[in-house]
Amino acid sequence: MDDCVTIKKKHLQRPIFRLRCLVKQLEKGDINVVDLKKNIEYAASVLEAVYIDETRKLLDTEDELSDIQSDSVPLEVRDWLASTFTREMGIVKRRPEEKPKFRSIVHAVQAGIFVERMYRRTSSMVGLAYPAEVIVTFKIPVPNLISFAEALEVGYSKYKNPYHNLIHAADVTQTVHYIMIHTGIMHWLTELEILAMIFAAAVHDYEHTGTTNNFHIQTRSDVAILYNDRSVLENHHVSAAYRLMQEEEMNILANLTKDDWRELRSLVIEMVLSTDMSGHFQQIKTMRHTLQQTEGVDKAKAMSLILHAADISHPAKSWELHYRWTMALMEEFFRQGDKEAALGLQFSPLCDRKSTLVAQSQIGFIDFIVEPTFSLLTDSMEKIVMPLIEEASKSESPAFGTPSQNSLGAVSNAEAQRRPSFKSTSDGGTHTENSLATVDLTSFKDNLMKIIQANKERWKELAVEEELVKNVGEQEKDQSRNSTDAQLQEETTRIQNESSQGSDGTTCPPRSIVLQVVSFDTPLSDESNSEKCTNSDPNQKDLTDAQQETQNTDPLNGEPKHCKKSEDSVKATEKEALIQN
Ligand code: AMP
Ligand code: ZN
Repeated sequence: MDDCVTIKKKHLQRPIFRLRCLVKQLEKGDINVVDLKKNIEYAASVLEAVYIDETRKLLDTEDELSDIQSDSVPLEVRDWLASTFTREMGIVKRRPEEKPKFRSIVHAVQAGIFVERMYRRTSSMVGLAYPAEVIVTFKIPVPNLISFAEALEVGYSKYKNPYHNLIHAADVTQTVHYIMIHTGIMHWLTELEILAMIFAAAVHDYEHTGTTNNFHIQTRSDVAILYNDRSVLENHHVSAAYRLMQEEEMNILANLTKDDWRELRSLVIEMVLSTDMSGHFQQIKTMRHTLQQTEGVDKAKAMSLILHAADISHPAKSWELHYRWTMALMEEFFRQGDKEAALGLQFSPLCDRKSTLVAQSQIGFIDFIVEPTFSLLTDSMEKIVMPLIEEASKSESPAFGTPSQNSLGAVSNAEAQRRPSFKSTSDGGTHTENSLATVDLTSFKDNLMKIIQANKERWKELAVEEELVKNVGEQEKDQSRNSTDAQLQEETTRIQNESSQGSDGTTCPPRSIVLQVVSFDTPLSDESNSEKCTNSDPNQKDLTDAQQETQNTDPLNGEPKHCKKSEDSVKATEKEALIQN
């Protein structure tokens, strides 16, 4: 009896054994065409089913979002997370029992993702064959760079946004720079890719209107019409920045070859579009899936994750900075809420300045968005950089000449040559600034997670007070309503009893809850106190320690300024503001 018969009973249903049997039978020449066809068809159908199933698993964002349904997250925060970080459109409030239908989104994007992925596979091969000199010798003309940077500043200041202003652009650019150095990922990237990262960060919110994509869609703004409601702002940021460079004196990419220009553009477009928060869960899911595969990580996807993480990185910075950025964003949201009220539109989540639960929303933001993003970022960096570190440590030469894997797992000498090298120290060692040898991913991760946790704890403290204020406000509202009802009753009776005399009964209007929004006209800092803004724990390194420049600028009005409030006085300000009414 042949092998096929012995394994038949146990494994006949398993296509892999069927196929192996077929091969054996073919070798022996004892199979008829009808059987062969039937078996191949069967194997194809099984493979197809597995493919579809895997695809669904890959794209199913419901897993990540199901936690948001947890009762511990207030409805308003859940609504905001779902409407901001998924492609769910519209701002209509759901009733608690209704579950968002994320599956439909999943199915809608399935085809697109796969076509796009296949496209990247071929397109990212382009550019690997360029001689190193092309990239090494290109220069950005300095006058063009100055004109371009000035125009960017003007664009970022156009709408006088409390949050999406030039300081945010500088902050994100600095953070991208920090991540590239401290994770060692810069050693995996080519010079052109590093330029693309910095450039994308600098332009990623150019001419931001201070309102959300959803607001543009709801108000049918020109940009929403122009970009067909798809990543409206992000499309505008990248398009408008490129439009600037159409002017000769601002063309900082004038010396790039045609191919490099195209490659850079393709990366920048992908990265900036990936800052559209409605793609967040999909992006996380896709990247997580990539990490489980043996093949190399797609460079554009890794770079997009770095930019996305930098864009939401303030919860990984010192409390003072995080708090200020949060308040700046809240003020921007509230200004949108004011516009919505004026236009007779429903408030978007977190946009009603009278009832938004700031602290609670921050806990949700950190739990569901920030922590998973940074955890994925550090895992991705580990997967990419650890092999480079191992290679480098094996290498005798101080120069880092060993080729490593590119985005698709192939090895390219040209690419390896383009990488920044270990610079020899005077004693011939390899431990120099920014070299792979100095990369410590474990501390990078631990420090970030520690800071994020500490910030979350601060919000938790504030959430208790926020809840108290909210309850007091509601009680007062109820009391006021009851007393108004009683007074009305009394009044009606009096009027009925005492003919038509006017009423002098006044009611105390309900005390509205004013959350801890600091004034955006007066900076948070106290001029008399020139203390510099530092981490409360000097041993904790956050994303800002690479450059103090950004840390010492005031996100509220865009003016460079030292952060002058001590931690305690900031806290006092929060508490004061919390109980303002
Ligand atoms: P971008 O608009 O490109 O700056 O992307 C950042 C987005 O992340 C913001 O528009 C918000 O939707 C979200 N985000 C950032 N920080 C916070 C925060 N502290 N609380 C809530 N959402 C935030
Ligand atoms: Zn941004």
